[in-house]
Amino acid sequence: MSTLQEIINKCKNLAFDLNFEKAKEWKAEENDRVLIGYMPIYFPREIVHAVNGLAVGILGVGDRKQVIKGDAYYQSYICRIPRGIIELALDGHLEGFDGFVFPSICDVIRNLSGMFQILKKGKFVDYLDYPQNFQLEVGGEFYKNELQQVLNEIKKINKVEIIPEKLNHSIKLYNNNRNLIEKIYDVRQKFPWRLTAEELYYIVRAGLVMPVEEHNKILEDVYGYIQEEIGEPMDKIKVIISGAFCEQPPVSLIKTIEMAGCYVVDDDMILGSRWIEGNVNDDTDDPLNALVEAYLTKSTFSSSVYDINNPKEDRLIELVEKRKADGIIFAAPSFCDPALLDRPLLQKACDDRNVRYISFKYSENTGQFKNIKEQVGAFADSIKLWSDELIES
Ligand code: SF4
Repeated sequence: MSTLQEIINKCKNLAFDLNFEKAKEWKAEENDRVLIGYMPIYFPREIVHAVNGLAVGILGVGDRKQVIKGDAYYQSYICRIPRGIIELALDGHLEGFDGFVFPSICDVIRNLSGMFQILKKGKFVDYLDYPQNFQLEVGGEFYKNELQQVLNEIKKINKVEIIPEKLNHSIKLYNNNRNLIEKIYDVRQKFPWRLTAEELYYIVRAGLVMPVEEHNKILEDVYGYIQEEIGEPMDKIKVIISGAFCEQPPVSLIKTIEMAGCYVVDDDMILGSRWIEGNVNDDTDDPLNALVEAYLTKSTFSSSVYDINNPKEDRLIELVEKRKADGIIFAAPSFCDPALLDRPLLQKACDDRNVRYISFKYSENTGQFKNIKEQVGAFADSIKLWSDELIES
């Protein structure tokens, strides 16, 4: 068995491989396998798995590739992730992908799907609309049709028909995947020094580009390792990162937050892998319906989701309480409309309930964090020094 450090190194390499070699090697092993790229945030990967496919999360280029052509496709005042993804497509990194799914999270992603269509990338490009009506017979029916459309496209490529037994099996594997990730988060809540936020990030992100069976084995091993007392506890506050659900923060930002005196005990980076809270029914005659029901009733909260009956500000505060966090770091990509439009609402909820927070913006290729380190350090110090007085006041 690999050591924990070997696992982390392997995940780090996989998570940032802009050529997606692991996924392409997997596809090359059998003729009827397909690769389906999906953009942030959430996509039910189970349906692709059940028809001999691998759904591969594409998160932009971060600071590992210069974006030149991508800038020509977009105006300057939007986030960076779509430019990076276009650059990947134009430079051939996505060759070998059979199709692309663009979940409806914002107008930028909608436009990106149109560009992929015009550029004729893959054998199909699907803009996947999520329901804004949460009744099973209305929004649920709509969403089921959306998923069926993706399955129809895949069937045209590899002729594989979806059957309930296979989809139940796929659902079971992804249930296990989410459970293992959650168990690791639970251990870190109590013992965050056993696995840094940076290391956890590599481990979870690697799951976007490899078969779920293999990722589950990695998660099991990691979970085993962090049962033991490893690492040294330090005098840090516990924080939650909120707003980083789509364009990912640079890893050096995650490191900076930790070095400035914080343990990150929860976050919304790689949120799609933790989207469904709890299990999807994996023993049913209609597993597609089970995925639909899970989306309608067990989705996490995010600024990219319209769910008027389930206030996200309340859920964020609940998360703070669940994780026993000392505060929130609102970190969102520059020009991210969903995250930045929600920020005043979320901050007001924090003000109302005496939850401490700090806010800033980033870009996936930002390289200098001196200012942020000073701000976060002052935030952590103020909580450590004056938290009792604040609670009493
Ligand atoms: S970072 Fe924000 S604005 Fe940009 S594509 Fe993602 S959700 Fe949309």
